[in-house]
Amino acid sequence: MTSNPTALPFLPFTKPSVDEETIAAVADVLRSGWLTSGPKVKEFEAQLSSYFGGRPVRTFNSGTCTMEIALRIAGVGAGDEVITTPNSWVATANVIIETGATPVFVDIDPRTHNIDLNKVEAAITPRTKAIIPVHMCGLPCDMDLLYALARQYNLRVVEDAAQAIGSTWQGQRIGAFGDFVSFSFQVNKNIMTAEGGCLVLNNDEEAKLAEKYRLQGVTRSGLDGIDVDVLGGKYNMTDLSAVIGLGQMKHLEEFNAQRKALAKHYFAQFGQEFETQTGAELPVADFENSNWHMFHLVLPERVVRADFMQQMMDLGIGLGYHYRAIHLFSFYRARGFTDGMFPVAERVGKQIVTLPLFPAMNENDVERVVNGVKSCLR
Ligand SMILES: *Cc1c(COP(=O)(O)O)cnc(C)c1O
Repeated sequence: MTSNPTALPFLPFTKPSVDEETIAAVADVLRSGWLTSGPKVKEFEAQLSSYFGGRPVRTFNSGTCTMEIALRIAGVGAGDEVITTPNSWVATANVIIETGATPVFVDIDPRTHNIDLNKVEAAITPRTKAIIPVHMCGLPCDMDLLYALARQYNLRVVEDAAQAIGSTWQGQRIGAFGDFVSFSFQVNKNIMTAEGGCLVLNNDEEAKLAEKYRLQGVTRSGLDGIDVDVLGGKYNMTDLSAVIGLGQMKHLEEFNAQRKALAKHYFAQFGQEFETQTGAELPVADFENSNWHMFHLVLPERVVRADFMQQMMDLGIGLGYHYRAIHLFSFYRARGFTDGMFPVAERVGKQIVTLPLFPAMNENDVERVVNGVKSCLR
């Protein structure tokens, strides 16, 4: 046990909210006898499609596979290059390698922590087929700049919007426009299905292809007709997950509003002088576009992150760190990436912490975290 002088309950950095109605609905699915992909998946996909302005949407058993499938639909494979950010969960780059293509990293903007779109052009070669930007913490990339680049260089876009459900750009929902848009329903995300994800597509033809890649490349016709004409995997969502998603969708607006209110309270509690007094960096104070998936703090160089996390843990407060720079993992170093290539992502990856932020938190919890941070940084 840690010494917790405050004796307050442990505060994790995130926690899902599940209502009793959803728990009952899961039990109903279990009793129904149809546990895998069935009517609940169809219903969830229809709801998501209407949420994203009527665009075709298909669900999957992870957010990761939605990006891989989008790349496959775009025809990305061996010999191609895909531009992405080193500041993400490793899934974002892994899916590029899964298709046989090569990831090309571009450093991040020091304020937004999203891919620096002004540096993308220099990384484009004749082999570049696609770009995977990440809307970090739900703060969207500059969508005007992103799609202008994509048009100019004829690139497909796979938005890693894993964290961005309910985020907007100029009043339009992320996912309601653009090219491929990928969302995750992993348990830590703003809405969840335990594990799962969905992909917003451009047309029915792409949606049909997505269905094939989702289930072993199979197409069926009639009662006993079956063919396999592409290499697919096993990526379908279950009705058990879909029914959780349907229960979560009812609360999406309220969850995101609560996250936003808590984020505002964080800023108010940290106060104007916090950054200059401590050398730490607060996130962009965006209350227009972001769904506040996470609240990040970049620690000053003088602070050792692991020590800081331990001190906070001793106060009963759990922190996360999202994310270590992808290119510095052994597997990526073995492919030629080294220290110093993407200095902003490296600095952020070493010093970032994720503060507790989830809908069931209250203002007292925020104040407890801020007091803890201030005392540990003193
Ligand atoms: C969660 C997440 C993923 C992966 O989603 P899974 O559903 O866990 O496969 C990918 N990218 C980002 C930015 C994420 O936050």
